[in-house]
Amino acid sequence: MARLYDSRKRILVTGGAGFIGSHLIDRLLDQGHEVICVDNLFTGTKRNIDHLHSHPRFEFIRHDMTQQLYVEVDEIYNLACPASPIHYQLDPIQTTKTSVLGAMNALGLAKRLRCKVLQASTSEVYGDPTVHPQEERYWGHVNPIGPRSCYDEGKRCAETLFFDYHRQHDLQIKVARIFNTYGPRVHHADGRVVSSFIMQALQGEPLTVYGDGGQTRSFCYVDDLVDGLMRLMESDDQVTGPINIGNPGEFTILQLAEKVLALTGSRSRIERRPLPIDDPKQRRPDITLARSLLNWSPTVPLDEGLERTVPFFRQRLADLDQDRRA
Ligand code: NAD
Ligand code: UDP
Ligand code: UDP
Repeated sequence: MARLYDSRKRILVTGGAGFIGSHLIDRLLDQGHEVICVDNLFTGTKRNIDHLHSHPRFEFIRHDMTQQLYVEVDEIYNLACPASPIHYQLDPIQTTKTSVLGAMNALGLAKRLRCKVLQASTSEVYGDPTVHPQEERYWGHVNPIGPRSCYDEGKRCAETLFFDYHRQHDLQIKVARIFNTYGPRVHHADGRVVSSFIMQALQGEPLTVYGDGGQTRSFCYVDDLVDGLMRLMESDDQVTGPINIGNPGEFTILQLAEKVLALTGSRSRIERRPLPIDDPKQRRPDITLARSLLNWSPTVPLDEGLERTVPFFRQRLADLDQDRRA
């Protein structure tokens, strides 16, 4: 696309009203780019992009990515897809459609425009891994017919499409496998572990630990993650991924609960709940590739990231309380 200023690009972010997408948009605008945010507001909210309402280089289009999209852009970040298990299991058929048809439409758009396209894939493509930590060449251990499959298999098929468009149409693709990410603007009621524990702790409710709490996750602060995605987009043409973006610091869910209790000063107790079906037992990224190809590694340790996140949820609770009274 012909550009007025050499370094200024027009960038499409699908899923831009969501948690990660809205942070990415802030960074792209800070760099001087124009951003088109496309979102159907299923799990995202206008609140996440409210501050951009009158920004001269920002535009919002309410649109479902399962339908074709005609816009003119220089680059595409394809993030549209619910990410939390309770959200993506609400309408699992729509989740698969979003991953597969959404990817196809993003790729069709990129093919017509001959532009770069980045896919937000996930550590869930590894399923309940039998290899630890997970490196990109591991093919995964995924149940194709379980309650998580709409998300896991949808994302796997999206990766397949990305690589077939790359081979068949010589498209420039970038595939990021994102590991658990947290920070301000995570939906307060999305049931993901960090948001749930902080909300519960701040309200003096029991922290719901599923199973024995011995399962592990590696949590990446959102600013680090966004930095990784942008570096991947800017990387050399031959770098296609898939590439793990995540923080290799690995914690059990019980350790996370204890950290949240300590940080909030909450006297909530811990309450055990049944472990959901197909819940992966352990997860930690091997980020050797990201370190060497993108010169990227995370900089925000879990304690610091949680400290930065708690004030957001305090404010959310105050806003929710005000809404209830109004
Ligand atoms: P999110 O739910 O906050 O954001 C997803 C956004 O996509 C929302 O704004 C939602 O309204 C939008 N969306 C959903 N279906 C759509 C559709 N059919 N058309 C248009 N928009 C649609 O989730 P997030 O945490 O910001 O995740 C962003 C991306 O990163 C997702 O693709 C997710 O799979 C991936 N990811 C996230 C994590 C994580 O820990 N947050 C981990 C791995 C991968
Ligand atoms: N597509 C789109 N926007 C575009 C170009 C294509 O939404 O600017 C859609 C198109 O309608 C199709 C999908 O992307 O559903 C894949 O496009 P492609 O050209 O690869 O496939 P074809 O149209 O040949 O089936
Ligand atoms: N989890 C938990 N209590 C909660 C929410 C989640 O113990 O209130 C556990 C869940 O069983 C999983 C881990 O925390 O083992 C991460 O769950 P999340 O839904 O955040 O992400 P994912 O399972 O997709 O990695």
